[in-house]
Amino acid sequence: MEEFDVSIIGGGPAGYVAAIRAADLGKKVLLVEGRELGGTCLNRGCIPTKALLKSAEVYLEAKESKVFGIDATNATFNPEGIQAWKTNVVKKLVSGVDFLLKARKVVIVQGKGKIVDVGTIEVHTANGSETYKAKDIVIATGSEPAMIPAFKIDGVNVLTSDDALNLNKIPKDILIVGAGAIGVEFGTFFNAFGSKVTIVEMMPQVIPTLCYEKKRSCIDPRIASMIQRSLTKKGIDVKTNVKIENIEVKDNKVFSTLGSGETIESEKVLVSIGRKLNSDDIGLESVGIVTDKGKIVVDEYLRTNVPHIYAIGDVTGGMLLAHKAMKDGEVVAEIIAEKDVKVDYRVVPWAIFSNPEIAAVGISEEEAKAQEIGVITGEFPFTANGKAVSMNQTDGVVKIIGRKDTHEVIGAQIFGPDASVMIAELALAVQHRLSIEDVAHTIHTHPTLTEATMESCNAAIGEVLHIVRPK
Ligand SMILES: Cc1cc2nc3c(=O)[nH]c(=O)nc-3n(C[C@H](O)[C@H](O)[C@H](O)COP(=O)(O)OP(=O)(O)OC[C@H]3O[C@@H](n4cnc5c(N)ncnc54)[C@H](O)[C@@H]3O)c2cc1C
Repeated sequence: MEEFDVSIIGGGPAGYVAAIRAADLGKKVLLVEGRELGGTCLNRGCIPTKALLKSAEVYLEAKESKVFGIDATNATFNPEGIQAWKTNVVKKLVSGVDFLLKARKVVIVQGKGKIVDVGTIEVHTANGSETYKAKDIVIATGSEPAMIPAFKIDGVNVLTSDDALNLNKIPKDILIVGAGAIGVEFGTFFNAFGSKVTIVEMMPQVIPTLCYEKKRSCIDPRIASMIQRSLTKKGIDVKTNVKIENIEVKDNKVFSTLGSGETIESEKVLVSIGRKLNSDDIGLESVGIVTDKGKIVVDEYLRTNVPHIYAIGDVTGGMLLAHKAMKDGEVVAEIIAEKDVKVDYRVVPWAIFSNPEIAAVGISEEEAKAQEIGVITGEFPFTANGKAVSMNQTDGVVKIIGRKDTHEVIGAQIFGPDASVMIAELALAVQHRLSIEDVAHTIHTHPTLTEATMESCNAAIGEVLHIVRPK
């Protein structure tokens, strides 16, 4: 029986990064993956959605090209070509992960892994079952779409995000359940290619839940209204504060009845609420690992309650984000290599790749108030930013939140072009406890969108230049 220092079950962003880092730290590593390397993120999440959204952006830019003195308004699209683009991007990145692991001599076994006892895992491969020994075991089994029975998901008319990624035809109309990250991104995609999109959200505002496990919304309600207006302007019908009561499929059509009594007929329904954490059938009970509502309970060292067994990424719940999973992977490898590190989730930026994008880090003004932290805030609209004007993308705003007493940057929210990129500067500020003045007084390149960040900080301290301050 082959013995390893570390056995990792699951080759998504959490697992493959743990494998890379552990191998770099001199460990003999086994990585067990039941499907494709790269996990949800590379195969059914982050990457394919971004490839599809790039196609949507190119198409929309062509449609709007006259503004720039170019006429590409007769552009057409080919759904199979869009799928081929997406598949190629995914393949390239998955084979990149395979290369990175093999270059480090990580042993990759294709099959379903299960813990049989502390230090032993069993893998069910196409050729039968194999057993491996390891000093440390890392569970990185991730998550998958929740198959909520009430929605009668059939993969044909009523879809999960996995199904929606593979449609070879753009539906005439689609109802999307949930105005979170996945719902808004798919809504953006289908709307760009002409589907009539309706998004139904039971909470009072769009993007209701993307926030550190707290029930309070992280997106400032005013920015959420801006986002909702922007979606509506594109022709997406956004209904908040209403539940789906019933879904029926008849003659290849879906009839969704809302709590308001309205019934909406559509070719497809995408259910983009809820992920099921993959903690079943992996042998947790054989060693007595503690879970809480499906998530594996870990401490700040990513240790389960059983010595030498760790869990990382989505399967531990909390923020279901790839960059958080990757950080877990890095940290767990270092902990196993006896480095003095632990996880720190104080600063985890997030982004939604709608058009315009949405991103945030740290805490919102609302949350700061709930925690009785006195704040100063500043906002700067993209309408007053030269680069945004030259891109013809002036919707949105940068908002900065700082402590009133020290001016330490404690949060930021961006709705606007390249928000996903711009948030990195503010993540650095929050992580390293920089002050609003530190950001405001740093010279930012002109003309760039990042000047809006600098100016939001200027606005917070009463020094804004490119808007007129109310007297
Ligand atoms: C549509 C969509 C879009 C997303 N977009 C983004 C985004 O833009 N940015 C972002 O940060 N996050 C995004 N996410 C979330 C992101 O994909 C996840 O947070 C991330 O993939 C979690 O990584 P993980 O390694 O913990 O789990 P996963 O990526 O789910 O990987 C787990 C792996 O374990 C394997 N596995 C499970 N059980 C076993 C077993 N018993 N034996 C062997 N292998 C097993 C699975 O096959 C899988 O490959 C998106 C998710 C979705 C669904």
